[in-house]
Amino acid sequence: MLKKFTVKSTRRSEFIDITASVEETIRASGVKNGIAVIHVFHTSAAVTINENADPDVATDMGTFLEKLIPHEAGFRHAEGNSDAHIKSSLFGPSVTVIIEDGAPSLGTWQAIYLVDWDGPRTRQYAVKVIAD
Ligand code: ZN
Repeated sequence: MLKKFTVKSTRRSEFIDITASVEETIRASGVKNGIAVIHVFHTSAAVTINENADPDVATDMGTFLEKLIPHEAGFRHAEGNSDAHIKSSLFGPSVTVIIEDGAPSLGTWQAIYLVDWDGPRTRQYAVKVIAD
């Protein structure tokens, strides 16, 4: 089963928790055991799994990466968003989660995030559920 989603970011750098949509897709698929792949269809956005208990973690990651890879750093790319491309490749366009008992097997503090590095924009991602 493949399901596509659209989300809108509201600022340039934003972590959007998409865990509920993954849980929903797995539930709707009826798959009890397998894997789910979560993939974003953009070159300036990424998908990652990290802490959701303290929102400061996502803020710190964004702030630190902005220091490491500033928006303006003499890049050649005419669109002016090379920093977003670099950050997206560092995080990667997809993650895979294990499905156990019809739900994503995530650690206590883990959530699945779509990270927009070049918002605000409308972003599309897909969840592919595969039974084992
Ligand atoms: Zn670009």
